[in-house]
Amino acid sequence: MANPMADEMRRFKGSDEKNPFEAMSERFDRAALLLGLDEDLYAVMRVPSREIKVYIPVTLDTGHIQVFEGFRVQHNFARGPAKGGIRYAPDVTLDEVKALSAWMTWKCAVVNVPFGGAKGGIICDPAQMSLGELERLTRRYTSELIDFIGPDKDVPAPDMNTNEQTMAWIMDTYSMHARHTVNAVVTGKPVALGGSLGRREATGRGVLFCVNEAIKRFNLKPEETTVVVQGSGNVGGIGALLMHEQGYKVIAVSDVGGGVYNPKGLDVPDVLNYLKVNKSLDGYPNVDFVDNKALLELECDVLAPCATENQITSENADRIRCKILAEGANGPTTPKADKILHEKGIFVIPDILANAGGVTVSYFEWVQDRMGYFWSEDEVNARLEAKMVASFDELCFAAEKHDVDTRTAAYMMAIDRVAYDTRMRGIYA
Ligand code: GLU
Repeated sequence: MANPMADEMRRFKGSDEKNPFEAMSERFDRAALLLGLDEDLYAVMRVPSREIKVYIPVTLDTGHIQVFEGFRVQHNFARGPAKGGIRYAPDVTLDEVKALSAWMTWKCAVVNVPFGGAKGGIICDPAQMSLGELERLTRRYTSELIDFIGPDKDVPAPDMNTNEQTMAWIMDTYSMHARHTVNAVVTGKPVALGGSLGRREATGRGVLFCVNEAIKRFNLKPEETTVVVQGSGNVGGIGALLMHEQGYKVIAVSDVGGGVYNPKGLDVPDVLNYLKVNKSLDGYPNVDFVDNKALLELECDVLAPCATENQITSENADRIRCKILAEGANGPTTPKADKILHEKGIFVIPDILANAGGVTVSYFEWVQDRMGYFWSEDEVNARLEAKMVASFDELCFAAEKHDVDTRTAAYMMAIDRVAYDTRMRGIYA
């Protein structure tokens, strides 16, 4: 009998290094094989549960109608409602959203929160759209998906180019249809509308908690640790700020236009403030300017790619000069680069753990909404730290036990949990 697992693995060999779904599948296959996952479960778990594609007509400010293309991929429901962000970008693709939805499944399983995975995307350029156009786009997208989302079905959240305002529009649209306010339909909402304190900072804070654990393995203290951060948004900017506050020496940060570098350390609040005022890092005083490629190759203790996919590939992995790679972004490293980093002895905190702080506090937000009782920021942060540290320790334990790299260990942990639940539930027919 043909072995579907082996067939799939052959299919991915030598495939496009930068296709995120193939990158995810390659890691999934490797971990599934090492776990000895049976073929039936393998076949169920390697594909998404549902892929939804919608065409979204929007009346532009000019009075003309433009039709946008949007996606929502619900990857897995075995452990609970599907969960994951929605991104707005001109180049978002279905394959990317598929990969991101699977990463949400594995991410939620790694930190052991009772959600499956989903992701959404709309092909649009939010920088070229007015607030009114974005609102109409968001509301119509929500209404197209109304039967598929909900607190017990699929709970969206912010991702690239979406924010608290986007979530407020989704919540309102959903609530208008339900004829009552349903705040648990999304997370990452404004605090005044049932959002959680600490949610905005949660992904960056999660990166910090992971880095705090990782440097202990190198006998480093924050004050002796140099950090390079790619990105200055909700993950990179806040991660850099929190690490700076804890005494880390942040020597470089960047935005889409490039980065600033000072080996003596940057005044991170000042850099971020400059960026906010000037919308660019150009002209920032007393620093060297580096492009986003060169930034990744700077010598440092911790490199935190917190921007987007495919930043570390077979092309540049050999030139990465950090001890610890903390993947704040989803999918910043390709499978070919994984091998090279492993050979170089770089300690990787894989994305599905390193950036799981966001969804962890999303889970806390959902819990608070459903209780109707809200926690203090200290309580949220303490619970987040406990989850991140426990998951980090479990990951290191799994890597040692199975004698594999940390990324493979993370996938093994996640797949094992989802497989167990799938097996217990059985297949409904
Ligand atoms: N978009 C974030 C992520 O990629 C958060 C998802 C969520 O909170 O549901 O993890």
